[in-house]
Amino acid sequence: MGKYDLIVIGGGPAGLTASIYASRAGLKTLVLEQTISGGQMRLTGIIENYPGFPEVTGAELSDAMYRQAQRQGAEIASASARSLRKDGDGFAIEASSGSHQAGAVISASGTYHRNLACRGAEEYVGRGVSFCALCDAGFVRNDTVAAVGGGNSALEEADYLARFASKVYVIHRRDEFRADKALQARALANPKLEFLLSSEVEAIEGSDIVERILVRNKKTGEVTPFAVGGVFMFVGSAPNTDYLPPEVDTAEGGWIKTDARLQTSVPGIFAAGDVRDTDLRQIATATADGARAGVNAARFLEGSVWKGLS
Ligand code: NAP
Repeated sequence: MGKYDLIVIGGGPAGLTASIYASRAGLKTLVLEQTISGGQMRLTGIIENYPGFPEVTGAELSDAMYRQAQRQGAEIASASARSLRKDGDGFAIEASSGSHQAGAVISASGTYHRNLACRGAEEYVGRGVSFCALCDAGFVRNDTVAAVGGGNSALEEADYLARFASKVYVIHRRDEFRADKALQARALANPKLEFLLSSEVEAIEGSDIVERILVRNKKTGEVTPFAVGGVFMFVGSAPNTDYLPPEVDTAEGGWIKTDARLQTSVPGIFAAGDVRDTDLRQIATATADGARAGVNAARFLEGSVWKGLS
C-alpha cells in the first residue's frame, strides 16, 4: 500500500506538468502511467506549435518533461489505474501496481483512438489497421496506404506517412477538413497525398493482412476498391475514464466536467488535459491544465482534513 498526498493518473503533458507543480508545492506525488511517459505526445513525430520549441519531436519533449518531473521529486510508476473511490479522508486507487491511498487525485489519463465501425476494421487491427503513424510507418515503406479522417491527426500523420509510403490516400467523409489551416496547406502541397473527399471506407479486406479497401463516394454512391498495405485510423478519440467512480460528472462522450479550478464534481478529484470536457486539445493546453490542477490540488489539501502521510 502506497500512501501519497497526490496521485496523478496519466503521464502525458498534463499529468507530468501537474506532478511538477504539485511536487514543488511539497506534495508527495505519484504519477501512474499505463504505457510510456509522454502519452500521445510521445507518438507525435514533429511538434511545431509548442511555444519555445519551433521544432521538437514528441519523444524529446516527453523525455524532457519526464526528467523535469523526476527532478522535482515526483515518483513515476509504470502502472494503470483500475478503480478510484472515496476512502475515509482521501481516496483509494487500485492500480496494476497495487493499492494506493491519496488525499487528492488528478485524472489526466488522456484519450484512446476510435476505430471505424465498417467491416474488417476491428478484425485487421494490428494486421494493417493502425492508429499510429510513428509506430507503424516503417511497415509500409514504399507501399500504398490509407489515412482516414479530416482532423489535425489525419493530416499531420498522413504527411508523416508519406515519408515512408509511396502514396497515401486521405479519405474524409466531408469536403472540408477540420484540421488547422497550416496543416491543410502542408498536406495539400504534398504530392504523395491523394484526397478522396466525401468518401467513406465501406470495408477493409485482405488475407492475413490488409490488402484492399472499398471506398464509397457519398455523392455518387459509387464503390471503388483501392489496393493498400495499411489503413491508418484518425477518426477521433474518446476519454480513458474506465476507472472513474460514477459520482464524477461527465459530458456527452464521457469527457470529464470541471470547474474553473479544474475540480470535478467530487471535491479532491481534479481533471486535466485531453480527458477533460474542453474546446481545445493541445500540448500547450494540457500543460496549462496540469499546472492549474497541480496547484489547486495543493490548495485543496491545505484546507482539507487529509491527515497527510503520518
Ligand atoms: P478530431 O479533431 O475529432 O477529428 C476526427 C476526424 O475524424 C474528423 O475529421 C471527423 O470527421 C472524422 N470522423 C469521425 N468519425 C468518423 C467516422 N465514423 N467515419 C469517418 N470519419 C470520421 O480528432 P483528431 O484529429 O484525432 O484530434 C483530436 C484532438 O487532438 C483535436 O482537438 C486536435 O486538435 C488535437 N490534435 C492537435 C494536433 C496539432 O495541433 N498539431 C495534432 C493532433 C491532434 P468530421 O470532420 O466530418 O467530423
